Amino acid sequence: MRGLMMDYQLTVPSLVRRAETLHARKEIVDRQPDGSIHRTTYGVLLNRARRLAGALQALGVHPGDRVATFCWNHHQHLEVYYGVPSMGAVLHTLNIRLHPDDLAFIAQHAGARVVIVDAVLLGVFEKFRDRVSTIEHVIVVGAPPADTATRPVDIDYETLIAGASPHDFDAPLDEWQAAAMCYTSGTTGKPRGVVYTHRSIVLHALGLGLADIDLMRESDTAMAIVPMYHANAWGTPYSALMCGTKQVLPGPRLDPASLLELLASERVTVAFGVPTVWTAVFEFFDRHPGAYDVSALRAAASGGTAVPPAMLRGCEQRFGAPMIHLWGMTETSPLGSCARLTEELQQADADTQLAYRAMQGWPVPLIEIRARNDAGLVPWDATSMGELEVRGPWVAASYYNAPETADRFTDDGWFLTGDIVTIDPRGYIRIVDRAKDVIKSGGEWVSSVALESALAAHPAVLEAAVVGVPHPHWDERPVAIVVRREGRTCTPDSLRDFLSPSFPKWWLPDAIEFVDALPKTTTGKILKRALRDEYATYYTRCAAAALVAPAARASPA
Ligand code: ADP
Repeated sequence: MRGLMMDYQLTVPSLVRRAETLHARKEIVDRQPDGSIHRTTYGVLLNRARRLAGALQALGVHPGDRVATFCWNHHQHLEVYYGVPSMGAVLHTLNIRLHPDDLAFIAQHAGARVVIVDAVLLGVFEKFRDRVSTIEHVIVVGAPPADTATRPVDIDYETLIAGASPHDFDAPLDEWQAAAMCYTSGTTGKPRGVVYTHRSIVLHALGLGLADIDLMRESDTAMAIVPMYHANAWGTPYSALMCGTKQVLPGPRLDPASLLELLASERVTVAFGVPTVWTAVFEFFDRHPGAYDVSALRAAASGGTAVPPAMLRGCEQRFGAPMIHLWGMTETSPLGSCARLTEELQQADADTQLAYRAMQGWPVPLIEIRARNDAGLVPWDATSMGELEVRGPWVAASYYNAPETADRFTDDGWFLTGDIVTIDPRGYIRIVDRAKDVIKSGGEWVSSVALESALAAHPAVLEAAVVGVPHPHWDERPVAIVVRREGRTCTPDSLRDFLSPSFPKWWLPDAIEFVDALPKTTTGKILKRALRDEYATYYTRCAAAALVAPAARASPA
């Protein structure tokens, strides 16, 4: 039945109008590629977003057209975030750290007509630009460095805006139409495009601010360290726009010193970053005692990979603020679950609380979960493992122009995440592994995530990865690859002793290797594929060297 409530479309321009009306004087602070700090307000920035949209319209950009960005996190990028969807076009963020071959594929596949690119990234952009036949206009943000030239057809961003009339954003938009698109970073395969609708963006923006998630308030100062090309900076720009939150953007300077400087000087209250970023920030903070006052921080949000208990504890000890563990995917906009404690768990002892906060948490409102294995849907008993399936208003229903991926969606409308989980009776999800990372040893599954989290608690361990390595007898065996903290020592045996009280004997890594650094994906995740390749012949090599394969000691019974 229609006509009972207003047919009010949930669209990005509705958030823009709200911020213009209510929050025009709130600040947006960013670091520019030259290192300088730039300050503006929502009022000024949104006026520039309107003029950008007016200019794009004059260039012939129509509703539905893809406008790509190849940029760091800064205020101009935010203008594109707000201006492009509000004119009905589609913001298409390109991951600046991908290989040029992947970028050429993605931009062509998405059909980008315009690319807005940072002058400091032109060198990388030129490596794939000519392979994207759909590009008609290139708009350059900032002055090109001395060794980089723009082409005569390229348009300067500031000149374009200066000469443009503001777009009225009045054209009626359907909340189901495309507003933005983002490709998965391809950790486990070919990048796939996810198209967000206006409706999904607005509902997701509401989600981040919900009381039980509580990561965006009007009174906050929010800093997205997570790149704006990674799942829309976890939706933070739209949530901040909705709430009227002051934003701080770090630009290209993602080194711990620059991040800590901004966290302190801008009195940041909530910051969003993957665990590898926080590891580096903590390390630097410890080496410079008293140098940074980050007492304004009330929450550090993290996800993208598992957040180990040691990191949760470390955040509180250093910053006096909790780290909030989130789980999500590009396909889920990305917020899927959040490990805040229920009222009941808030009464539990400290160890229980920490254990629950290190899980991936309970699904946020409007996200439904279930898990399935070969025997069917798994019970929520905290031990049965299955692949996590999700559905909800900000979960992708398909990938863009990729009919071959239809098998990632069930007939009854759920998305198959590829994550192997257990779910406890309260609905808390624990990620055991990505389906492709789980270690199959002697017919049983070993969780690399659990071993990595436990290793991270050792005082000498900075980072650890555990991968399944082909074994002649046991199918696979876990091998740990560890980066030691500067000035600390540990041995394979001492690490195995450290793990042994917490795991069955056959879970313990047979081999523990020490390296200077772990290979990472473009979004800061450990590149397990590369490690698996590197260690693929480990046992063959052991045998060839006539070493006793250590698995003999820790083999499945
Ligand atoms: P990609 O799939 O290319 O890595 P995404 O950023 O979309 O790009 O990654 C989503 C995946 O990241 C999830 O399927 C899950 O495996 C992993 N992930 C995200 N958050 C967490 C978390 N809190 N704990 C463990 N794994 C996580």
